[in-house]
Amino acid sequence: MPRADLVLLHAPSVYDFRKKSILYGPVSDLVPSTPVFEMYPIGLTTIAEYLERRGLRVRIVNLAVRMLNSNRFDPEKLIRKLQPVAFGIDLHWMPPAHGAIEVARLCKKHHPGVPVIFGGFSSTYYHQELIRRPEVDFVVRGDSTEEPVLQLMQHLTGHSGALLLAEIPNLTWQELDGTVHANEITYSPPNLDHVLLDYSYVIKAVARYRDLASFMPFKGWLGYPITAALSVRGCTHNCRTCGGSATSFITLNKRCRPAYRAPEDLAQDIRNIARFSKGPVFIVGDIRQAGEEYAEQFLRAIHGYQGPVIVELFDAADREFIQRVAKAMPNWTLEISLETHSEEVRAAFGRPYKNAPIEDTMRYALEAGAQRLDIFFMIGLPKQDYQSVMDSVDYCDHLMRDLGGGPKQRLIPFISPLAPFLDPGSPVFESPGRYGYRLLARTLEEHRRALVQPSWKYVLNYETQWMNRDQIVDSTYEAGLRLNRLKARYGLIDPAQAERTEARIVRARRLVAQVDDVMSIGDAGRRAKLLRAIKPQVDDANLSTVCDKTELNVPLTGIKLNLPRAACFFIEQVAKRLLPQISPRSAEPTQRDAVTS
Ligand code: SF4
Repeated sequence: MPRADLVLLHAPSVYDFRKKSILYGPVSDLVPSTPVFEMYPIGLTTIAEYLERRGLRVRIVNLAVRMLNSNRFDPEKLIRKLQPVAFGIDLHWMPPAHGAIEVARLCKKHHPGVPVIFGGFSSTYYHQELIRRPEVDFVVRGDSTEEPVLQLMQHLTGHSGALLLAEIPNLTWQELDGTVHANEITYSPPNLDHVLLDYSYVIKAVARYRDLASFMPFKGWLGYPITAALSVRGCTHNCRTCGGSATSFITLNKRCRPAYRAPEDLAQDIRNIARFSKGPVFIVGDIRQAGEEYAEQFLRAIHGYQGPVIVELFDAADREFIQRVAKAMPNWTLEISLETHSEEVRAAFGRPYKNAPIEDTMRYALEAGAQRLDIFFMIGLPKQDYQSVMDSVDYCDHLMRDLGGGPKQRLIPFISPLAPFLDPGSPVFESPGRYGYRLLARTLEEHRRALVQPSWKYVLNYETQWMNRDQIVDSTYEAGLRLNRLKARYGLIDPAQAERTEARIVRARRLVAQVDDVMSIGDAGRRAKLLRAIKPQVDDANLSTVCDKTELNVPLTGIKLNLPRAACFFIEQVAKRLLPQISPRSAEPTQRDAVTS
């Protein structure tokens, strides 16, 4: 097996989730991951691909998915066997805060001389806390770390002309005497031209390491191979709880405006993905963010694409735009995160658009033939109380009845809590009082400890002036129950599925109360024993709590992954890269390289 220079490890949310009794609740019902948050960030593949293009060998090991897939899989044994120059661990969002630290500890235990590098938004936020931990040697900050990680790896491998640590942008590091240095974030490319986002690296690496299991993005991906196409890093909006908002990007990543993928490249990424996958491609980011012209160029470039595509809109759109999308990508699904029925709550959350124009947008989408229209609501917003959550469910009734009607209901509402954590760096996290929030965990260590609490109520890192943790939990289950019944009434789910979901919600509610009872016992030993006793029921209630996960799936038929075509695609990509090396023009840098170097 070839030895990798850099091994990128993705940890589960809680390292020993297979042993612990934790009622995770509906924290991941609306994302492809399970509550273990096994889906690794797309940045791992862009870093890996970027380094590979420059001669380094990188291997991704999704420990979380491997632990989920097999109880016999021993992550410590695998870590012990790996012999890289450095380990990289993602802490992009906060859910893997416990697992990431524990995995770093295992790397250090078995390879004390091998540097451990952290990266991601949350690593950027907590770089000072991370670098002082004995498990961490470097933190690479910012939203685009491909080039700084390359420079760090060149330094660690003794590459000729490698930069000194003090010269590597975005790097937090420590001298032997413990002095910490946080180099400025000066690497923040203006666009996404420097990365390749077509997963060709993954295909190549799976073949090289003969290890498909470690590259799986999430459990069940082979059955539903959804992929992401990244249109942007950054955002023009300012949702109050989002760590990826415009203001968070400025303060955290020193990014003053979003970096966009060139519209033609974005279209090509999607077409490349379609060569090996028949699954839906989710276009991350509203394609109108970079302006009308960008959207127009992208739609022209993707015109005629027949595969399933999921498009997201951050606010209302006019009929003409919707029709252009439908014409360009006839097999499309629209997603809108409406968050709430209440214009007042939505404005307080930072999305000040009105209901009338967004309902018009929904009508246009259905009229233009969108395969599905997924509408997302959230619990835990500023100015939102228990009754407001129930009113949002009533509003779903109105939407399904008055907009989504017709022979086949295509408007599908979802509701979930803002959980487990408010994002560090988000406006609310930075000024909770101003927005009516109370923070219950602030430091990385506090979050790490919160993650191992026995139910999601105790994991939540906030409560609001309008709902405490009990009310957030209670309104979530009640809203889930009501919406489930509505979906059954409108024929979105069959009666048997509705019954199963209802039973799961009732069971989860009972378990929350049971955990509360256990937590009121003073004797820690007895508490632990009682929690262990209910672990089987807790594990059973941990998946698809307030809705069935499969409700999110765009229907797929036939072969979902085309492995022979993936192999051809891989050979083509290798040939493309080899050809310039034997051509006299190969000495000239490509346009992409010129941008990044
Ligand atoms: S939640 Fe709001 S701020 Fe965050 S990425 Fe989405 S639109 Fe932008």
